Amino acid sequence: MNIQTIIKMLTDAGIEEREAKKEIKMLLEHFCNYTEKDEILGHPLTEEHLNIVKSKVEARLADRIPVQYIIGESYFMGEFFKVTSDVLIPRPETEILVSKGIEIIKENGLKNILDIGTGSGCIACTIAKRTDATVLGVDISSDALRIALDNVTRLGINNRAVFRKSDLYSKIREEEKFDMIISNPPYIPVGTELEPELSHEPSVALFAEENGLKLYRKIVQEAPKYLNKNGWLIFELGIGEADAVKSFMNEYFEGVEVIKDLDGIDRVIYGKLI
Ligand code: GLN
Repeated sequence: MNIQTIIKMLTDAGIEEREAKKEIKMLLEHFCNYTEKDEILGHPLTEEHLNIVKSKVEARLADRIPVQYIIGESYFMGEFFKVTSDVLIPRPETEILVSKGIEIIKENGLKNILDIGTGSGCIACTIAKRTDATVLGVDISSDALRIALDNVTRLGINNRAVFRKSDLYSKIREEEKFDMIISNPPYIPVGTELEPELSHEPSVALFAEENGLKLYRKIVQEAPKYLNKNGWLIFELGIGEADAVKSFMNEYFEGVEVIKDLDGIDRVIYGKLI
């Protein structure tokens, strides 16, 4: 057996070659401690390495389980976050959201941040790690919050990212004011047909009513109550949702801007409280 055989197992199952190679790399690194450095230095893959990776690929394909759930980790903005099927796997697109959020936090010296729908805590933890701000991450799912707490420990940012079970703002008190609300809410319209891998992710993290817009609408409408003067709101956007979210935001926010991702899709929107 060689590595090509394993790549072919994945491509035969409809996974793009580039993604297949990336997954194999992740499996080799996690289960065999064989890193990119070993590859660069020309260290050969042993039969044992290949057998381990093959068995993981078989498990991944049998149920179409995302490779991150098999590994139990996902890479996001330079860190490995714990993930289980209780949380959404952090996406590269979300790095655009977090990078812009961090830029605004640093430029404006923002101190208190609210991350709505924190899931694995990847947004909250990254902001706490890279800025001086304190972040409160809220989520409706206790199972997700357990993972977020593990990620705080992993990243060693103990009391600068804290968490609370809350359905959007339900457990936030009005006197708790924030300088920024950041969110990557569920935004896929209910009823959308998706690739089988997504059925392993929590549906509460993926789908939203009102054509995917319900959570944006609710978060925007109540945001002014919980934001300090000059506070910011920043969201990740689902495909084709920029105009609708912009019109929600225009009512309470000024200077509303959209940022595109590498595929030219409107991906992040932000604005400042009027
Ligand atoms: N905040 C988490 C993330 O961006 C989870 C988002 C969600 O579950 N919709 O990955």
